[in-house]
Amino acid sequence: MTSSTGKSYLIVGAGVFGVSTAYHLIQKYPNASVTIVDRDAYDATSRVAASWDWNKVVRADYDDLVYCKLGLEAQEVFLNDPLWQPYFHQTGIYWMCRSDYASEVIGNYKTMGREGELKAVPVAEAKEMYGGVFGDADIRDVKEVLVNRGSGWAAAGDCLVAVTRKALELGVKYVVAETESLAFSNDGTRCTGIKTSKGETLKADHIILSTGAYTPKLLELSAYEARKPDLSAGDRIVAGGITTGMTRLDAATYPTYAKMPVGVQGYTPEAGPFIGSLPPTKDRELKWWGQSIFTNEQEVLPGSTLSAPPAKPDYGQWEVSEKLREDISYANHVFYGKKTKDWKMEKHRICWDAFTTSADFIISPHAAALGLYVATCGNFHGWKFFPVLGKYIVQMLEGALEPELAQKWAWDRERPKDGKDNADYPRHQMKDFLDPVRQARL
Ligand SMILES: Cc1cc2nc3c(=O)[nH]c(=O)nc-3n(C[C@H](O)[C@H](O)[C@H](O)COP(=O)(O)OP(=O)(O)OC[C@H]3O[C@@H](n4cnc5c(N)ncnc54)[C@H](O)[C@@H]3O)c2cc1C
Repeated sequence: MTSSTGKSYLIVGAGVFGVSTAYHLIQKYPNASVTIVDRDAYDATSRVAASWDWNKVVRADYDDLVYCKLGLEAQEVFLNDPLWQPYFHQTGIYWMCRSDYASEVIGNYKTMGREGELKAVPVAEAKEMYGGVFGDADIRDVKEVLVNRGSGWAAAGDCLVAVTRKALELGVKYVVAETESLAFSNDGTRCTGIKTSKGETLKADHIILSTGAYTPKLLELSAYEARKPDLSAGDRIVAGGITTGMTRLDAATYPTYAKMPVGVQGYTPEAGPFIGSLPPTKDRELKWWGQSIFTNEQEVLPGSTLSAPPAKPDYGQWEVSEKLREDISYANHVFYGKKTKDWKMEKHRICWDAFTTSADFIISPHAAALGLYVATCGNFHGWKFFPVLGKYIVQMLEGALEPELAQKWAWDRERPKDGKDNADYPRHQMKDFLDPVRQARL
């Protein structure tokens, strides 16, 4: 897999990190060999990627200035580039804050000269906004509501397919294959490619892992096979799952919600992760995500246990237990109160992502082998940066990332010992949510 320019890139994983990398690479190096490998076809009707979803929140309301800037940069692309525009819905966001989040975000927007776009609204006044759609929300401990009209949501799966298709038109290749492990030079110092479950070896001089929640398991298996223990992710990356669910609004109910903003119930890290409710899609489907974020510990090798998605081709993502479904009913309740309690919940899904304790991405060379790079760890907030992730990943590949970003996203850096200050860090175990029958079968 080399090209006339001599540059060759093998990107494992066709989520937002991988596809954005391919898209930026092929634009910068039109003659390079750029190949994406994924276990699922990019236009399959069901995929395991966290990036493949009905919709995702697109916002820049971050208390961390780096992600605030990055969010605004991505939003510019969503608003102005015809490839991305059709998928972005700038509905605004309505964020019920139980901490100083609103003032921190407003401070960051001020730094960026964008303070006109958002405001902190007193709770009583906010209840009346947007036709009172959140008038029955649970507002216990809410200090104020952050309203940002620049934020919104994107039709995530459709956008992922469109950008992948565009990358293919520009010359990127797409191979459907399960990557079983990594391949190395004879002396073990350089990663030379991947081995697939069908026994093929694909080679390139840059191997980029954008494998989301599967990354720790892939590295663990590769470490064992190559006898290179330093390949393991160790405590750098943890796979975590969360439930989403949807209801389909009937024609009479739809107009009440048609123009709603994205809703967020924000909590402190001690109380739990933030819960979200996304406006209806073109099929009138309104979505929530739940409050339980969990690991799935499994023995991947004798004596080696880590969290990974269930070992099934589809990660068992459609097998959602009663307890996890209740998570979505609870989310419904804290946004809309009693009036929506009879809504029929449909399309439950468990979605897996890769987490770090600091909630930062890893966009970095892997320290244990030349030619091996890691670009993933969306931490449950990576989708919105899709248009610009690849730009920074290409900078990383070329050693040109700003020092602040290189340090923030490094493979080896000091991270908090645990995720206690990261509200979204997994705090539960999947086994505690399984239905009794399924548990008995384990
Ligand atoms: C329920 C949920 C809601 C979210 N909501 C938002 C939101 O509103 N806004 C937002 O910005 N972010 C959100 N996120 C986070 C965001 O979706 C992720 O951070 C982001 O999509 C991760 O992208 P990725 O490319 O790292 O991984 P993924 O999208 O998971 O892609 C990884 C890819 O690697 C492939 N792969 C893995 N292992 C192998 C292998 N061995 N061989 C071949 N292929 C392999 C998989 O098939 C997959 O396609 C949410 C996440 C979840 C789970």
